[in-house]
Amino acid sequence: MDCIFCKIANKEIPADILTEDEEFLVFKDINPKAPIHLIIIPKIHLGPINSLKDENEKLLGSLILKAKEVAENIGVSENGYRLIFNVGRDAGMEIDHLHLHLLAGSRL
Ligand code: AMP
Ligand code: ZN
Repeated sequence: MDCIFCKIANKEIPADILTEDEEFLVFKDINPKAPIHLIIIPKIHLGPINSLKDENEKLLGSLILKAKEVAENIGVSENGYRLIFNVGRDAGMEIDHLHLHLLAGSRL
């Protein structure tokens, strides 16, 4: 499948990777909208939120908890951060692979 985030997950194209585990990969957004702008993706290809099913409930929960863990590890938990899912055209969604934005580092 011609998916840029799958290619990043498979290390076929480079990205500035912060951390990864079996399920998720965390890398810096190439066009940051805040001093800290990370993208958190599941390594398997899933579509955006509006394509998900009940069976994806556990993965979605884990994705949000991964964001929380990353925020703690990079030291922004106390000052705060914003988690964003863009869904569909009106949200400006560009990439069709489920991803969570983590923005931090200034008053957003
Ligand atoms: P979205 O609008 O939610 O689909 O956001 C996709 C995000 O992925 C945008 O913020 C892009 O800047 C970012 N992005 C696109 N290509 C890359 C890439 N190769 N490496 C890192 N981030 C990327
Ligand atoms: Zn993908």
